[in-house]
Amino acid sequence: MSETGAVVLLVEDDAAARGAVAVNLAARGYRVVEAEDGRGALRLWGSSRPDLVLLDLGLPDIDGMAVIVHIRREATTPILVLSARGQERDRVAALDAGADDYLTKPYGLAELHSRMRAVMRRAAGPDADATGLLEVGPVRLDVGRRSVTVSGAPVDLTPREYELLKVLLAHAGRVVTSGRLLRAVWGGGYSDEGHYLHVYVSRLRRKLAAADPTGAAGRIVVNDPGVGYRVVAGGPPDPS
Ligand code: CA
Repeated sequence: MSETGAVVLLVEDDAAARGAVAVNLAARGYRVVEAEDGRGALRLWGSSRPDLVLLDLGLPDIDGMAVIVHIRREATTPILVLSARGQERDRVAALDAGADDYLTKPYGLAELHSRMRAVMRRAAGPDADATGLLEVGPVRLDVGRRSVTVSGAPVDLTPREYELLKVLLAHAGRVVTSGRLLRAVWGGGYSDEGHYLHVYVSRLRRKLAAADPTGAAGRIVVNDPGVGYRVVAGGPPDPS
């Protein structure tokens, strides 16, 4: 999707932070609408109908969570949450309420743009193409054949490892909460069994790494501590 002309609603009460991000987004061709609190955000949501919402959770009037709930009642517009460190529980709640992803402050602008592109790609359509292939880096999953390859070499996964990888690849670049992964792979009764996930992710990483002489395939599954997992082509981003 072209960035040019996409309308971004930027909700942030810190004027200096908001100004810096707004200038950067405008330079990239986005049309930026700025709100300094939750009520302003809801008003501008109604009048500008943005293509993406960048939402600070800690707002001076109403909680950022209430903004997410309001928007999700009306639309599937991608919401990228901006949250301070030490708020893992808030992040999980925001993702469960319908936010698409989150960024931890302070974040780099390169990371902001890559997350924005990922959530807007999702909004543009399903990740699997018409042939049912999900690909990140050297890892390719063929939904129709239920097969996984790394650089063309087959990888033997158990049904649960396969499902886990499929859910992560279908949300490439975006975090999937532990609760959501557990419900998708094990079913509704397992949403508190985080240690299952830890064990299966470790096995999955080992199998992917073993199939790849460079080891890169094992690094695509990245942990977001306290929140969940995501797959990223190059592994964890460099801090910037
Ligand atoms: Ca704030």
